[in-house]
Amino acid sequence: PVAKTAEALLPRYARVNTLKTSTDDVIDYFKRQGYTYLGQASSVQELGHLSGKQFLTDCHVPELLVFSPRTDFHKDFLYRSGHIILQDKASSLPAFLLDPPSGSHVIDACAAPGNKTSHLAAILKNTGKIFAFDLDTKRLATMSTLLLRAGVTCHEMANQDFLQVEPCDPKYMNVTHILLDPSCSGSGIVDRLNHLTNDEKSSCEERLQALAGFQQKMLSHALSFPAVQRVVYSTCSLHQQENEAVVKDALERNGTFRLVNVLPSWTHRGLDTFSGAVCTLRASPAETFTNGFFVALLERKSEGEECRE
Ligand code: SAM
Repeated sequence: PVAKTAEALLPRYARVNTLKTSTDDVIDYFKRQGYTYLGQASSVQELGHLSGKQFLTDCHVPELLVFSPRTDFHKDFLYRSGHIILQDKASSLPAFLLDPPSGSHVIDACAAPGNKTSHLAAILKNTGKIFAFDLDTKRLATMSTLLLRAGVTCHEMANQDFLQVEPCDPKYMNVTHILLDPSCSGSGIVDRLNHLTNDEKSSCEERLQALAGFQQKMLSHALSFPAVQRVVYSTCSLHQQENEAVVKDALERNGTFRLVNVLPSWTHRGLDTFSGAVCTLRASPAETFTNGFFVALLERKSEGEECRE
């Protein structure tokens, strides 16, 4: 089927965990294992042309290595010891774009199983604080293992509904960055694509409306933290209702934030459904050699900017 073919064609991405090692050391390790390093990719297209034991450094995320489809590292020492994290390129964009400075206080609102939390911790160099919330205890248990293996120490995990986290609690007074990656339909995940029956598709509309309502509440809640400067919103959904529409709604309700025009060289942009949607990113197997994904970065306007409006 189409989906299986698409999945088979996606490169294998491995994010170097800079809490434990360096990109150069990992490149050397793979060269010693018989892989051929082709340098840094100069375009997204190059990511789709890897074969056999060739690998590249990604053209956008510097600590991301790209291998040919079907390369399996699950048994590799570097994966088992948390030196590399097997994470799709699209899913490594939110923390990369949020880019909190060392020492920042960050919320990961829907954190489990923790891939993006570990990426945030690497960007923070394990300094500052990550408040990581999730509702699902099983996924939190998986997250504990993942974060331990990755050497993450700057986090505080809580089995808590993010909507119930009080923005004015003194504990969160210094939170300047929030990563919001809420539950979504998952329609962009390649091995789920095209697998829906017609019945499933018709019940989708209702489910989508419910998800979009939840996502809107979550994004508005994130923007209500008093010191927050930047919020990254992401989904692995292809549906405009869960993506551009959620961001548009949040910006309409909260005039103190604007969209940041992220990665101008990225050609697959948000659907042109409102002015500014072009600042957001989409990802897909055909255009970016990743799973389907959406990312928007919202930033608090400066005082001068607000007055000029
Ligand atoms: N960010 C995670 C990662 O990179 O590994 C993946 C997050 S997954 C897309 C969405 C998560 O949101 C699920 O683990 C789910 O349990 C959690 N969730 C759903 N509703 C929530 C809520 N109200 N508060 C906190 N977490 C919630």
